[in-house]
Amino acid sequence: MNLFVANWKMNLGGRKSLQLAEELIDSLPEPLPGEVVLCPPATALFMVGEKLKGTPLQLGCQNIYHEEKGAYTGEISPSFVKEAGALYVMVGHSERRHYFQEGGQLLARKIKVALQWGLQPILCVGENLEERETNRAWPRVKEQITEALVGFEEGELKDLVVAYEPVWAIGTGHSAQPADVQEMVYFIREELVNLRGLRILYGGSVKGDNIKDFMELPDIEGVLVGGASLDAREFSRIVNWEKN
Ligand code: PEP
Repeated sequence: MNLFVANWKMNLGGRKSLQLAEELIDSLPEPLPGEVVLCPPATALFMVGEKLKGTPLQLGCQNIYHEEKGAYTGEISPSFVKEAGALYVMVGHSERRHYFQEGGQLLARKIKVALQWGLQPILCVGENLEERETNRAWPRVKEQITEALVGFEEGELKDLVVAYEPVWAIGTGHSAQPADVQEMVYFIREELVNLRGLRILYGGSVKGDNIKDFMELPDIEGVLVGGASLDAREFSRIVNWEKN
């Protein structure tokens, strides 16, 4: 089933998150043409989770810590995320890789703990501009996936989702070329992950005007949306792409 993930990043506090969740409940098409996942900031997670109860919308978290509890000041336990009602968690978003030096086996540990808590991990991968321009996009994505999935048995990863998000396309207004996206996601599916039923999303400046270009790609089953998910109307256009 197609998956539409709204990443609100650190843009909305509790009240505004709740307001946007309400607007989306009112404006998204019924029945939903796929799974829709809202990822508010951690402080709004519980409230938005309560609001989504009884609706077809799902809750996701933008990040988790790789331990369940203890002296880890400021971190977000997977058990708290689960308690808030989340079903999904993003792992290794490029902003976490860049600003918080996340990567490598830390992400494998996050994926492991997410799965233990029944949270479906959305593993984000993607090359930066320099890597793209010097033909190092493929080895970079290969490295990110190999590191994050080290030590897993195939059966453990049935709930894994991969989001291909070229860093240079995130928040810039310059989305990737659909043909390049297809090449990369085919590579991810066939060469790197090779899991039956794996869902791969595209992320990077997706809007109502370009969503069709990505959803029509044979190996894409959804999108991860940042900026355009902060506007209920625009995000509804994205979710409702087939009717636009
Ligand atoms: C993102 O947050 O992962 C993202 C793709 O953002 P934007 O849609 O704003 O490029």
